[in-house]
Amino acid sequence: MRPLTPDLGLGDGESATSYAARLTQFHTGQTGLRVVQDLAIDLGAFLKGEAHAVEALAHAAGISPTELRSCSIARFSRHREFNGERLARDFVRPDGARFCASCLLEDGDRSTDRYARLLWRFRPVRLCLRHGAVLSAAETNAIGDRPLPFPGTPELERLASRAISADPTPMDRWIADRVLRQPMDQGTFLARQTLEQGVKVCEMLGATLDHGLDVTISRLSEAQLADSAAEAFEIVRQGDEAVMEALTAVRAMSVSNAGQAKFRAFYGNLYEWVRATGGDVGPGPIRDLLRDHIKARTALGLGDTVLGEEISERTMHSAYTLSRATRLHPKRLRKILVRLGIAPENCDDLDYNLLVFPVGETEQLCLDLHEAVPLSGLPGDLGCSRAQAESLCRSGFINPVVPPGEGIGRIDYARREITRVLSWLEGLPVWAPADGVDLTRAAKMTSLSTGDLLAGIRDGTIGAGRMPGAPWISAIRIRKSDIRRLQLETRGPPVSA
Ligand SMILES: [Zn+2]
Repeated sequence: MRPLTPDLGLGDGESATSYAARLTQFHTGQTGLRVVQDLAIDLGAFLKGEAHAVEALAHAAGISPTELRSCSIARFSRHREFNGERLARDFVRPDGARFCASCLLEDGDRSTDRYARLLWRFRPVRLCLRHGAVLSAAETNAIGDRPLPFPGTPELERLASRAISADPTPMDRWIADRVLRQPMDQGTFLARQTLEQGVKVCEMLGATLDHGLDVTISRLSEAQLADSAAEAFEIVRQGDEAVMEALTAVRAMSVSNAGQAKFRAFYGNLYEWVRATGGDVGPGPIRDLLRDHIKARTALGLGDTVLGEEISERTMHSAYTLSRATRLHPKRLRKILVRLGIAPENCDDLDYNLLVFPVGETEQLCLDLHEAVPLSGLPGDLGCSRAQAESLCRSGFINPVVPPGEGIGRIDYARREITRVLSWLEGLPVWAPADGVDLTRAAKMTSLSTGDLLAGIRDGTIGAGRMPGAPWISAIRIRKSDIRRLQLETRGPPVSA
């Protein structure tokens, strides 16, 4: 391969295709990329950014192969690649589609002095950071990715004098730093995604926050979209937690009272974008964050699917799913939830139906209500009389699932509460003293209620045991000596005649 002489240097931040086009014009006086073929380099391989082809051109032109490769955007039929990232076709522009007239005039007087910047090839790049001006657009549309020639000096001077000034935003600088591989402070969220994904999430989030859930970003002007994206960038660069807060703000914009799984109603087109984007360029880490956001605020059952992931464990209950799980009438359930402090007292019907409760907090309640035993079932389960059962409840020796109150209706006792009392009974010493007194007699002799006697036994102030056999309340026996002591305490010393 013959080297090209004289040398033509690579411009600062010049794109590889611009360099090849400039070499062609410099050495052959023609437009296009003919020089690549003249050097017997495979043009297809060069455009695909294949190392051997790009490096061969660099060698022939006497410039650094590594530098030229770093300025190459690889072209494939369905996507582009840059910096090891896959990009959508429309995320990349051809050389010459946008340019800063002032930069080109500063490059030199000859057309071969003027070169296309790599940065100008990226769709979200609107401004020249150096001149603080909106880039000019080529008059003609490119065919494919074929480089477009720049206008002549008089037209460039006219464009430069009319360029619209604009202050570059931190987002503009971030894009430039990513493209030019400069060190940057972009936060953990942006660091986990491609440049295109990061730009897109800023655009979708910003446009939604600025223009509402139904925003269609293609209907916004370039400036509107850039403004919204730059605002969202300030949030997104702070990391995952800030993104989650922004999703909460988006969700708060929804006035929908749609039931579960109507995520579109809550997150608008932002959700649609995350849901529908796939293929070569997915939406990136926003998908996981949005899914987590939905799961934390929506009652989802087993088998429901959120953004491509099937729910394997219910994490939230809504009033509706809780009503089904407990088999309680929604009205009674609501009173119960308020009584237990799980739902706020003063929320209206609509808000109540939108409330969700962590499964962990309501799981035990569901189970307790599901297996609850009414007062009338206690004598059979605890081996006592109805009057004794009532005394136990009155004294608080056994507690209902929901404290009594208006609208609560029937008072029920959780199965685990009954089990707790039974296992306590089982733990009492087993003996059959001849002088033991059962609870019915003990209550009559001491004028104490069954509940008070049991509390005394539990606290160790009254000595008692149980008969062998089933650990029922009827099997309890209290020592006679303790009965006498209690008689003295409750009735005073016997009066001598
Ligand atoms: Zn410029």
